[in-house]
Amino acid sequence: MAETPKYDIAIIGSGPGGYVAAIRAGQLGLKTLVVEKDDKFGGTCLHVGCIPTKDLLLNAEVYDYFKNAKEFGIVCKEFSIDWSAIQARKTKVVTRLAKGVEFLFKKNKVESIQGYGRWAGPGRITVTDAKGQTREIQAAKIVLATGSEAKTFPGFEPDGKTILTNKEILALKAVPKSMVIMGAGAVGVEFASIFHRFGTKVTILEMLPRAVPLEDEEISAELEKAFHHQGIGLETQAKVEKATKAANGVAVSFTRPDGKAQAIEAETLLVAVGRSPNTQDVGLEKSRVKLERGFVKVDPYMQTDEPGVYAIGDLVASSPLLAHVASREGIVAVTHAAGKPVEPVNYGQIPNCTYCEPEVSSVGMTERQARDTGHKVRIGKFPFAANSKATILGSREGFVKIVSDETYGEILGVHMVGPRVTEMIAEAVVAMRLEGTVEDLAYAIHPHPTLTEAVMEAAHAAHDWAIHF
Ligand SMILES: Cc1cc2nc3c(=O)[nH]c(=O)nc-3n(C[C@H](O)[C@H](O)[C@H](O)COP(=O)(O)OP(=O)(O)OC[C@H]3O[C@@H](n4cnc5c(N)ncnc54)[C@H](O)[C@@H]3O)c2cc1C
Repeated sequence: MAETPKYDIAIIGSGPGGYVAAIRAGQLGLKTLVVEKDDKFGGTCLHVGCIPTKDLLLNAEVYDYFKNAKEFGIVCKEFSIDWSAIQARKTKVVTRLAKGVEFLFKKNKVESIQGYGRWAGPGRITVTDAKGQTREIQAAKIVLATGSEAKTFPGFEPDGKTILTNKEILALKAVPKSMVIMGAGAVGVEFASIFHRFGTKVTILEMLPRAVPLEDEEISAELEKAFHHQGIGLETQAKVEKATKAANGVAVSFTRPDGKAQAIEAETLLVAVGRSPNTQDVGLEKSRVKLERGFVKVDPYMQTDEPGVYAIGDLVASSPLLAHVASREGIVAVTHAAGKPVEPVNYGQIPNCTYCEPEVSSVGMTERQARDTGHKVRIGKFPFAANSKATILGSREGFVKIVSDETYGEILGVHMVGPRVTEMIAEAVVAMRLEGTVEDLAYAIHPHPTLTEAVMEAAHAAHDWAIHF
């Protein structure tokens, strides 16, 4: 085993956790190494997650505009989907962004090695390349950023054609005629919105009582109503039992809450039931790193129980599996590793965005959480149907809901479902970070005509002062 020079910090994994951590480490003047097993940087987010899905969602939106062109006074007689051109654009977007990461590594003097990284002992990792050659690397601090993979079950293993995860579905050769989606979380409902608009007959099977089950209950109800209206099938409290080969794809059997068994046949089945952390076979069994159901336990500075070893991103216990959370955790870890002061992640102020149609976004407590934690709650709600920009856009579904505390007007949570709300939630995050009140949101002048006026109006509505409703 050949030895290489010693690094201040070695980061295993180059997703939005690892690559952002590496750039900040470089900025802090640390001699930094990134180890990535794949031949490209960017991880799940860039290659099989956030970016390609949002790219496809845009294609679906454009296609929708063509379908509804008449409403906008445009006559468009012939149009169709060119699936290979859609795939080519997706690849172009992803490649451009991956090159951007490479450029930023160079700019910040971050070194990288392609290979499979494992913790090997205090201040040491090993990297095994594609030819099976292993070398040892020394680093004063080590950051685990190996991310996660789609959860699968026996009998539901992806085969690339009929049973799919987020990876295989992005490489489909054609738009399937029908699809069953197991799971109505963010990944499930986003793919439902993509393929439904491309013409696929979509049915979602969700084991829990509602879609997007982590969101405020009223948000779930509004999204379910919208899906019903659009013709996306959704069965809640549906326990999927098995998937068997059928003449034209796959037969998915499930039971309803009353115990009734049913089966649906579809060309494809997407398994979107959560993620498993990549914490096996990375050397942790020999370390003091503590795991909780496979996820790594860390302190507020992202330190594990093994001195000098940090963990960030999807593999961290009790941390939401989101790219921006991974990135922020990466900044906290390397700044702490550099011995500089840094503020830990505030998990109470993380924006959640689901890019389905209509979009969903939120930050902070749901109404139920606020009530369950003893707050005297004041709710302000404003529908997009009464917002001028939403009417111009022809997207009048949904609303903004602000959960505040009656005593001082503290903003406890903000929840939105409707047009472009994923772009609007950052305002609520900033207001909460600055300890703004619901009155601050109401009195901050919002530009007209914009969708953001719905936030201001919802804040007014907390005191029954909404102007346009
Ligand atoms: C379909 C889908 C859509 C999503 N959309 C969004 C979204 O819109 N917004 C959002 O915030 N989040 C989204 N997410 C979640 C987001 O992708 C993840 O939270 C994020 O990628 C986690 O970043 P990470 O750095 O922890 O891990 P990853 O992005 O998973 O990166 C881990 C990296 O480590 C590498 N690696 C693993 N093991 C080793 C090893 N032993 N040695 C070397 N390298 C290794 C992997 O190859 C990978 O490059 C989505 C996820 C999916 C599946």
